[in-house]
Order: sequence, then C-alpha cells, then structure tokens
Amino acid sequence: MKRWKCALWAAGLASLLTPGSKAGLASVLTPGAAADDGCSSKGRYIARTMQAASAGDQRIDVSYYRLDLRVETQTSSLRGAVDLVAASLVDSLASVTLDLSSTMIIDSVRQQASLLPLTRYPSSFTVQLARTYRRGEAFSLRVYYHGTPGATGFGSFVFASIPEGAWIWSLSQPYGARDWWPCKDHPLDKADSVDVVVTCANGLKAGSNGRLVSVRDNADGTSTHTWAERYPISTYLVSIAIAPYVAFSNWYKYGPSDSLEVLNYILPQHLTQAQETLPKTVDMLRIFSGLYGPYPFLKEKYGHSEFGWSGAMEHQTMTSTSTFAEDVISHELAHQWFGDMITCQTWQELWLNEGFATYSEALYREAQYGTDYYRALIRYRLSDALAAQGSLFVIDTTSVSALFARSRVYSKGASVLHMLRHVMGDTLFFRALRTYAGDPRFRYGTARTADFQEICETAYGRSLGFFFNQWVYGEKYPRYTLRWDATGDGSHWTIEARLDQETGTATPPVFVMPVDIRFSGAGGDTTVVVWNSRNSESFTVTLPFKPERAEVDPEQWILREVSNPNPTLADVPILEQNYPNPFNWGTTLAIQNPRRSRVSLTIHNILGQQIASLHNGVLEPGVHTFQWSPGATGWIPEATRDRPVASGVYFCRLVSDGAHITRSMLYIR
Ligand SMILES: [Zn+2]
Repeated sequence: MKRWKCALWAAGLASLLTPGSKAGLASVLTPGAAADDGCSSKGRYIARTMQAASAGDQRIDVSYYRLDLRVETQTSSLRGAVDLVAASLVDSLASVTLDLSSTMIIDSVRQQASLLPLTRYPSSFTVQLARTYRRGEAFSLRVYYHGTPGATGFGSFVFASIPEGAWIWSLSQPYGARDWWPCKDHPLDKADSVDVVVTCANGLKAGSNGRLVSVRDNADGTSTHTWAERYPISTYLVSIAIAPYVAFSNWYKYGPSDSLEVLNYILPQHLTQAQETLPKTVDMLRIFSGLYGPYPFLKEKYGHSEFGWSGAMEHQTMTSTSTFAEDVISHELAHQWFGDMITCQTWQELWLNEGFATYSEALYREAQYGTDYYRALIRYRLSDALAAQGSLFVIDTTSVSALFARSRVYSKGASVLHMLRHVMGDTLFFRALRTYAGDPRFRYGTARTADFQEICETAYGRSLGFFFNQWVYGEKYPRYTLRWDATGDGSHWTIEARLDQETGTATPPVFVMPVDIRFSGAGGDTTVVVWNSRNSESFTVTLPFKPERAEVDPEQWILREVSNPNPTLADVPILEQNYPNPFNWGTTLAIQNPRRSRVSLTIHNILGQQIASLHNGVLEPGVHTFQWSPGATGWIPEATRDRPVASGVYFCRLVSDGAHITRSMLYIR
C-alpha cells in the first residue's frame, strides 16, 4: 500500500464525483482533511478505526473461499453467499468462529441442507457445525448475508459514483475484509485459492484477483464477472473494483514464447494519462524479476484498477490505484513479491511488506535511471525515517494510523534494507534477497523478521543479530560527532580522531555499524571505514596528503544525524603549533581551552616513548602556555630543568575528554 500525498490529485478526483456522492466518500476526497502524514485523505477513516486485531479462529485452516456478490448500487449494499472450505486443526471441532462486521446481516449459515445455529458478536459470529470434525478433516459451509459494508481502516468498501456510472471498490488492509465478507481475517491463514464472482449492472467492469474466467450477461440488466485466483492469498488481498472502465493491456514477454498480460482498468477520462506511465510496468516486471526471481503469479496476470482512495493498494495480481506515478506503480508491483507472495506473518512485521516495497522503488530507479536516482530517493527516506516513532517491529497494531505511519514501516523499513546492503555488500545482499524470495518455506506463505534475518546470516556467513536487534527491535538512530586533528611532516599526515555517538535511548545504547569517514584536502581524498561498536571510538589514520575536511558517512549509508561537521572543534582544547620551531634551547606550547577539563600534555620521542610531562590535571578555561626546554642550562635550577635530549623530531601530545592532538617539533642542539 502506498498513500498519495498530492492534494491536487485528490482535488482532481473530487471533481469527478457527482453532487450526490456519499458523504463518506466526499470526506475522503476533500483536500485538507485531517491526515497524519500530509496526505489529503482518510484522516477520518483512521480516526474511526481502533479495531483490535483478531487472530482468527486458530482451530481451523482455510483452503478455499468463493465470494458470490451482487452489488446493489441503488442502495449501496451487497448481497452475497460466501463458501468456505477448511480443515480442523483440533481433535474435535464442533463450532467455528468467523470474522464479519456487525453492519452485515447474516441471513443463514448452511452445511449442505443443514441450517447451522449461530451466535452473533460485534465483529464475528460463531456457528455450531452439523457434526464434530476430527483433526485434519475438511468441511465446508456457506454464509448468506447482506448489508451496507462498514468503512474502517482505509475505507474497506466504498460506493461512489461518477458521471458515467457507479464506482465501487474495496480496500481491506489491514482489518477490513470482515467489513464486507465473512472470513478468517488474518494474514497468516492464506486460502489456497479464491473465486470472486461479482454481479453488477451492465456497462460496468469488475476487476479482481487472478484470471478472468467469464463475463456472463444475465439478460436482466446485469452481468456476472467470475475471477479465479489459484495462488495462495490472504484475506486482505482479496479485492474488487467496479466502474465503467476502459481496459488496455501491455505484455511482459518473459520467455521466447511466453507473455504475461498487464491488464489495466481505467476511468475513460484518465486513459491518456494512464497510458503515459502504466506501460513502464513491463520494465518494472523485468527488473524485479531479475532481482527477486520470476513474477510470482505468472500463470495469471498483473494489472491495475483505478479506485478513489488517494493512494494505491497491492491487491494480488491487480493493484488498485488512484495515481499512475512511477514510484507508486513500482512500489505496488514489488509488493507482489513482498506482501502478496511472501506476506508478513502478523501486522507487527508489516515492514517486511512496506519496507521492501519502498526500497524496491529505489532499486527500480537505480536499474532504470542510475545511481543518482536511487540516492535521491534514499536521501528522502533517510530523512523521513528520523521521525519514526517506536521500533520498526510494531508492538501495538490496534491503531491503523500508527501501524501505517509513513516514517516507520515505509521510510525506516526501506532505510534498514539500504543499510543492510552496505553492511553485507552488494553481492551478498542481493543474493539474500533472491534467496528469501525463492525460499519454499515462505513463498506463497508468510514470514517473520527472524526468517529474513536467518537467510541474510546464511548469505553473510556470520551473525547479523546486532543489526536486526538495533534497527528492527530497537528504536531511534545514532547521532555521530567526529573530533580529529592532524599532524604532518610534509609528506605524511597522521590523523588522530575520535568518533562519538549518542542514541538517546537504552534500546540500543549503541549502534554497531561500519561508518565511512572521508578525509579530503587539496591533495586528494580517502575514505576509511571505522567499525564502530562503542559510544566513543578512537582511531588513527595516516594519509599522504594534508586533510582539510572530514565527513562522517558522506554517501548516507546510515540512518543517523551528524553533529559538528566542522573539523576544528569549538568545545575541546586546541594545541597550537610550538614556537619557535625548530628550536634550540627551548620552545613554548600554547593550549586554548574552551571549558574546564582534565588535560595531559606530554612529550614523546620518535619511538613513541614519553620523555617529559608538562601538565597533567584540571585546566581552567583560557589560554595556557607551557615551556619545554631540553637545552636549558645555567640560569634554570637543575631540579626543574628538562632532561637533555638528542637533536631530532619530537612530538607533543595533548589528551583530554574530546581531543587527542599531536604536534611534531624539531629540536636542534
Ligand atoms: Zn505498500
């Protein structure tokens, strides 16, 4: 799923609506309606939805649904019969509980000729089965029902109209399938196949999942459209979209004699616009197939149906969308691998859907247009992800707005994959993605973060626990401060540096990451990688040029902030170059100290051995001078004289909290 952020687009849609449109829909399309992420839509829907996640009836495993729905546009209602085939997961199954919101009225529930006793609850119902079923034994039942579907989450099921006729769509993610059809409404229990049979007025097209089997004219002003999905599917991915669409197709040739249809159901007035970008879906199919393995629903189709929610939703084999923007189209297509074929096992793991689809937008850009386009999108995602609240693993999934908060499962989710790419390196990272997408344990099923982590670790050859713990289960991000100074002799420069990080949280107290640090100057530039595993990490680098500038993570591989980009430090002591230099009998060293701190100032020979200590203790703010006089004689009392030394290069080293600074000096006797 992806929300569209442009109010202009929503306004464009609003102009299509006839004055008699339902008030609920009008609110969706009114620019400026309250929203949590700058989008013009659905703030009100979200506010209405604080529906707790049902785990579904865990005593059954559903294998098949058949939705037979008659859509009544005059009354904005549905009349339906849903067949369910399931197997018992317990030794003795006498009843079944299915999810169905209270706005839908159950007429009867039957097993063949038997009418089943039923108990109604606000968003579910329980039926007593005709007999008890043993573990593994299959049974079927049929629910007859009717009513006007509720609109939770992002709308669930909407009746709208345009001048040309009715416009109706579903959008069930995450808890809305139960608003319009009875089911075990949890992503974990995929049906092996689903048939969707829709009867609606002639002149309308009904788009849905899988393959279009038939369109039958009922000779009563209605037609029946039958779709068959033969790949496993979660309930929230079952969809319908109905309007007086025009259809056009593009073809993705994936073999010398094999093609996949990309079928588009578009409102007539948007056809030209749609034909500008939707044909690029074919390139996207080629690129994602190369990255992740073949398109998962090759025996059926891919496609788009235009709907009125300002965003897009990755309904299996037929995305619903209100925009033809390229990033949105690639996002929803990528979901066919990550979201539809491999579905997050619970909504807590939603980033396995949204993070992957959002990152795929960048990978499509990279493959199609080059690295700059990848980087531009990633920069936006990284900066947006700084605002993510809580852990990427969503603890409380009852609030739909918090669950789908853009900065978290979308932007931070994509950022985590971007960072993982840097940690693992391209070869192993892309191998892991492809292995994950091809793993029979998860294909056409569900996965958890731990499953993806295990696959990455196998590819990487060592543990990535540190990475997943801090980025998926932990919160926030590191804020880095680099402090450094360089000394040189004209041909080589030695940098003493310290990288500090604060996380602002105890979970984790430190982010373990490889951090790129680029030193540059007139003579060149060098990037060093510091494996940073502590809040304060000191390191030394020798360069063949004079560094003038240092950048932490210059290519933005990390979700982070960098403070104090200025390499000369305002808050730590500065050690001036000694004067005079070279010197004969003695030289003066000056320290500018900005704040009260402990400072040690020592002299070392070229072997690193300490040969004098000029100061070791607290230093008040201000400028302090120290004298080192190895050549002093006569006029200084012998007890306080510095030890005589040989001619040569010596180093003066200042160490304090926040600074390691070394200066070289030349002593000539
Ligand atoms: Zn999405």
